[in-house]
Amino acid sequence: MRIKNNGHSAQVEIDASVAPRVTGGGLKGEYIFAQFHFHWGSDSSLGSEHTIDGVRYPMELHMVHYKGSYGTLGEAVKRRDGLAVLGVMIEVSSNDNPALAPLATALLNITDAENFADVSFKHPLKAFLPRNVERFYRYEGSLTTPTCNEVVTWTVFDEAIAISERQLNNFRALKDPHGGMIVNNFRPPQPLNNRKVYVSADSSADSSTVKRVGLSLSIVTSMAVLMMNM
Ligand SMILES: [Zn+2]
Repeated sequence: MRIKNNGHSAQVEIDASVAPRVTGGGLKGEYIFAQFHFHWGSDSSLGSEHTIDGVRYPMELHMVHYKGSYGTLGEAVKRRDGLAVLGVMIEVSSNDNPALAPLATALLNITDAENFADVSFKHPLKAFLPRNVERFYRYEGSLTTPTCNEVVTWTVFDEAIAISERQLNNFRALKDPHGGMIVNNFRPPQPLNNRKVYVSADSSADSSTVKRVGLSLSIVTSMAVLMMNM
């Protein structure tokens, strides 16, 4: 893996002969992994872009994939169903998350913007997903650039993964190009504007537990921009 301080987040790419894919769960077609990155707060009362039942998490991970049939990420961002992003809420635990440990340690060497570090990591990407991947929320997200393309199929898992405050603080120590701290690099939830948010069939088994998901539509823009800059 290679982790980079891109000036507004910590972004991870992987070196694999065959990039991981995601299929199923209502996605139409096969989506190829491109990168993952994080959003976090200045303290643990905020940081996530989505809210679940109004609850904000201190961090959110976004695993970005593009539709294989479009060939490249650059082509996919022009298509309505071009991207599939998996969103994972991250909550504070008293223990370090072992899957995040190599990345959190590497952050100490890339506090300045545009620095990167290679990280030896031999676990599947699944190590960053919650145990329960059957329970998730789904909506079609749109760019807020002037053309307002709808290109992201969002999957937001209901179950969070863990991180320690110590590990979180390594993210909060990253600096932007002007030397300021990269914190609160998230956009707040936006109005639904008649969009439908779907809940996976597993979740709908108990409708009383269906939660409201707050949307962050505007962030989709910056993410696409970020990816095109890769
Ligand atoms: Zn993101």
